[in-house]
Amino acid sequence: MSHSFYPPRRILMGPGPSDVSPRVLGALARPTIGHLDPQFIVLMDEIKQLLQYAFQTDNALTLPVSAPGSAGMEACFANLLEPGDKAIVCQNGVFGGRMKENVERCGATAIMVEDAWGDTVSLEKVEQAIARNSDARLLAFVHAETSTGAFSDAAAICKLATSHGLLSIVDTVTSLGGIELRVDEWGADAVYSGTQKCLSCVPGISPLTFSERAVERIRSRNSRVQSWFLDMQLVMAYWGENSKRAYHHTAPVNALYALHESLLMLREEGLESAWQRHRLHHTALVAGLEAMGLGLVVAPEWRLPQLNSVTVPAGIDEAELRGKLLRDFNLEIGAGLGALAGKVWRIGLMGCAANRQNVLLCLTALEQSLAALGAVIKPGVALAAASAVYQQ
Ligand SMILES: *Cc1c(COP(=O)(O)O)cnc(C)c1O
Repeated sequence: MSHSFYPPRRILMGPGPSDVSPRVLGALARPTIGHLDPQFIVLMDEIKQLLQYAFQTDNALTLPVSAPGSAGMEACFANLLEPGDKAIVCQNGVFGGRMKENVERCGATAIMVEDAWGDTVSLEKVEQAIARNSDARLLAFVHAETSTGAFSDAAAICKLATSHGLLSIVDTVTSLGGIELRVDEWGADAVYSGTQKCLSCVPGISPLTFSERAVERIRSRNSRVQSWFLDMQLVMAYWGENSKRAYHHTAPVNALYALHESLLMLREEGLESAWQRHRLHHTALVAGLEAMGLGLVVAPEWRLPQLNSVTVPAGIDEAELRGKLLRDFNLEIGAGLGALAGKVWRIGLMGCAANRQNVLLCLTALEQSLAALGAVIKPGVALAAASAVYQQ
């Protein structure tokens, strides 16, 4: 016999999904209406405006793709590339590698600009790649590399792209709502994100925005987009401004109630305040970790507040510690990926999970669990170090 599923109450401090606020979960449970209902159309317009605020853009083509962040990524490449095109892709972690996959599956060639995992994308290398590949059509990079916890200078990279006539594709899945992001001011062309990181919404939706230049590129394609579902020309007929909202696919109605609520919360708090809040709790967390004797992977100037990669101390089984945190404290942190697998933990401070209780709980749980596993750490100092940050 099957039973209803009641998930345990976890505290989500991994690389996403992050804690979803009760307000957003409440919105999710409201009655489902038709996705072409006049009231739903009003909601769609509001979601678009709220997304324009979150992305800091006036782009008309701003909408939530009905699928996770990976689909937003795929939508950008599938719509902007044609077979035989050349794209410059920056890789300094897992997600740049996925961009390469996308380029190749579009029948295009990826010119890779590689930096070490944990480093920021090197502007000099980007400039060199552009100089050597004057026939490239676009430049893609990850603003906030969730696999390492490093961010890159998106403003400068977009400027390089624009000044050389390249379109930019920017992965902001982990940056949206967590660190400064200004799509219009920076001149970013195709920008996608996710709902389950710093927006603290349920997973499964990918906010996306395309500049006028990107829309022009789509309109002037010689070949059809190979994906029917992600073809923006078709999606626009449903989400577009003056159209009659033609049926394309059934929107995930309740998930969009949730997205609307989470974007409303972001606007109520204010973008700048949300960025500052992430920074404050990150500063306190790092003070506690370092006082305990733990090290961070990323250099201070490129650290993402919302994703902290911590080096696993010698002799500690990283999976055993994560299991202990989950069992004893209901606390989830993330494992390392790719080149950092087994070597780091990833502690997220995303969206509404970026709060003082979580920071203090995480430090307490880490200290007790590491001590129990026999790690050489300095006990009894982490909480004081974090608290000192809050008292400043
Ligand atoms: C999580 C993440 C993705 C993928 O998002 P999904 O919703 O898991 O498909 C893409 N890029 C980055 C930087 C991410 O952190």
